[in-house]
Amino acid sequence: MPGFELFGAEEKKEVQDVLDNGVLMRYGFDPMRNGHHKALELEKDLANRMQTKYAQVVSSGTAALTVALACAEIGAGDEVIMPTFTFVASFEAILSVGAVPVLCDIDDTLTLDPKAVEAAITAKTKAVMPVHMCGSMADLGALKAICDKHNLILLEDACQAIGGSYGGKPLGSYGDLGCFSFDYVKTITCGEGGGIITNSEKFADRAHKYQDHGHDHVGNDRGAESHPFLGYNYRLSELNAAVGIAQLRKLDSTLAKQKKNYTILRHSLEKIPEVTFRRVPETGVESYAFLNIFLPTEDLARKAHKALSTHGVDACFYWYDNNWHYYKKWEHLLEQKSLGKLSKEVQNGLQQNNRSFEASDAWMGRTISCLIKLNWTETEVNERGSKMVDAIKSIL
Ligand SMILES: *Cc1c(COP(=O)(O)O)cnc(C)c1O
Repeated sequence: MPGFELFGAEEKKEVQDVLDNGVLMRYGFDPMRNGHHKALELEKDLANRMQTKYAQVVSSGTAALTVALACAEIGAGDEVIMPTFTFVASFEAILSVGAVPVLCDIDDTLTLDPKAVEAAITAKTKAVMPVHMCGSMADLGALKAICDKHNLILLEDACQAIGGSYGGKPLGSYGDLGCFSFDYVKTITCGEGGGIITNSEKFADRAHKYQDHGHDHVGNDRGAESHPFLGYNYRLSELNAAVGIAQLRKLDSTLAKQKKNYTILRHSLEKIPEVTFRRVPETGVESYAFLNIFLPTEDLARKAHKALSTHGVDACFYWYDNNWHYYKKWEHLLEQKSLGKLSKEVQNGLQQNNRSFEASDAWMGRTISCLIKLNWTETEVNERGSKMVDAIKSIL
């Protein structure tokens, strides 16, 4: 997955353009720019690649989710349904707009289970946020039908699956809004950065204002602009955007590398009957950022994870015990450890998450995810495949 593996002359050239004119900010200073508008260019490229009408770049993936939620008018008193398996950014973004994150079970896609989503809907639900974890997607068709039926926003977190598709559409473009992260360990990196895509003119118009203090961006005197509504600062700098332009150009060749390496490893593991694979919804195409496998039991998954490490296979994750990605270790959320006071509505709403999620536990307890790197040689991937087979067979 990590785009930083491919950092090179192309990124340096784009950054040099910015350094040469010294305009590190995306707005204003037009006479000094020599025609360079890197954030704007990245937005055009992103919308183009993702086949959406609009794209807005921001300072992080977390900021992208926050801005997307704000654009959909989600705020105090609202509930947003999100999966038990995701990065902490999901609930951070929901809390930051004053809404309540409602945890919901995952299924063998390792993302939201549509049946569990339907059961979690209340009169307060405003949005459903599937998170396309580890290179593959939620069952977007089923989720969209639920959202349409209940008049909810479908907000896709595609931070870990950029370049995958569903029903022929790029991930992120299927729902009302889609978000990407360009942080340092993602498939495409800006150092730090994020992006929102949408086909809604209304959401796109709100997004550019909201991420820049509510500025309306009318005219060419920033100081004279008005503020139709409250906003914050989630802007991306020109330096970061410049890196992103070069990285996005590499997306399709990066995906091809991921697919090649993934396929070699998958074919090796398919020889072990006890190993099964995460379900990819019909019409879905993975980004191949990770290879995700199930062992027959939690005990065997723990043993296999250890064995992979002792056999010298790095970058394999057992998320079930992980501090960042699974609800069991989100004590700060579940115990409401907030520096300042949370609103009464949020305090009360969060309590519904203090329960167990057995269906999620049953899948995550058995899951191991292996990161797919880009710079492995074919020999290295083949060796890795044999090592993985040896490691797993040693514990069966
Ligand atoms: C990385 C990530 C984010 C947040 O991105 P940042 O750019 O690090 O803020 C959100 N969701 C998921 C699933 C991620 O993996």
